[in-house]
Amino acid sequence: MIISKAPRLTDQQLAEVESIVGDFGCKIQVIFGAHRNIYAIIGDERSETMVNRLLGMDYIARVDRMESVYKLMDVRSDLANHRMIIGGVELGTEPFIAAGHCTIDPQNGNAFLETAAAVKEAGAHVIRGGVWKPRTSPHSYQGSSDTMKYLIEARERTGLPVIAEIMDEPQLAVALDAKVDMLQIGTRNALNYTLLAEIGRRTAEAGIPVLLKRGRHMGPVDEFISAAEYLAANGNPNVIFCPRGTMPSLDGFRNHPDECITPLLKDKSWAPVVADPSHSVGRAKFVPACSLAAIAYGADGLIIETHVDPITGIGDDPKQSITPDVLKKLIQDVRTMWGLKSVRG
Ligand code: PEP
Ligand code: MN
Repeated sequence: MIISKAPRLTDQQLAEVESIVGDFGCKIQVIFGAHRNIYAIIGDERSETMVNRLLGMDYIARVDRMESVYKLMDVRSDLANHRMIIGGVELGTEPFIAAGHCTIDPQNGNAFLETAAAVKEAGAHVIRGGVWKPRTSPHSYQGSSDTMKYLIEARERTGLPVIAEIMDEPQLAVALDAKVDMLQIGTRNALNYTLLAEIGRRTAEAGIPVLLKRGRHMGPVDEFISAAEYLAANGNPNVIFCPRGTMPSLDGFRNHPDECITPLLKDKSWAPVVADPSHSVGRAKFVPACSLAAIAYGADGLIIETHVDPITGIGDDPKQSITPDVLKKLIQDVRTMWGLKSVRG
């Protein structure tokens, strides 16, 4: 639908517009209003080039497309009945919990193994462990493939699936070789389209679930869903949205908590949402409240940094990991919140 700057297009402008949309197999239907006309595009109006050519006309204020630009992730797509089962949980049917270290300490693999056992006991379904880390400073610990062995050992000992973040294709190859069960794309790569496409292709056959974090400078909801579309369009529709806070931060929190985006995502896309309260608020003491808020907003689950002894951890663990005891109580409260009528009907 085309909205002109002036209430009506001149005959010459209308002819120009008809010629542009005609190049893409579309027609214009004029809707005559008392104060202004609206120019509906009839036909497949998804071409970005067509829209950009229209927007290039200085008499056009806006072009609104009725059809979604993300065909596969759209709530009306054929994939809307797609189901994902991870760690024995069908997402959407009960709260899904992933928990574990921000970062696996190469000097203290045992702490990670202890945490893995403890989060399982607390009720987690998936173990998280950072093997490679996107660090703001190049002088901070960057992670190491050497810690992959601990992640795999945690899986062997607990029988639970494991998740790790990958930031590039070599890391993807190592993770796939190790048969990591679930991949995380971090906030910094949320708009790295070539990486998203490659992950989609390389995980298509096995259908490995991909947790796609929200870019911390990400714009509209559509941009987030379109990023997920890159994975689906390249063969892997097992995408999970992960709000994790955005910038600028709310003074005192690490980011600006954005779990409230969940109902908007669910309005537009069928994909599950697993929120990350740890990075959203960035302090262990705020994590339980943020977790419950995320569930209240309709999240299907949570990924929570948890450590048996946070103060001895590395990366984010000392400041934002909760302990397995806190996790256990929180999971009970999450279940209560999940069951409230106003939350899930
Ligand atoms: C993490 O999960 O430890 C992490 C680095 O996440 P994000 O990409 O959301 O910052
Ligand atoms: Mn972290």
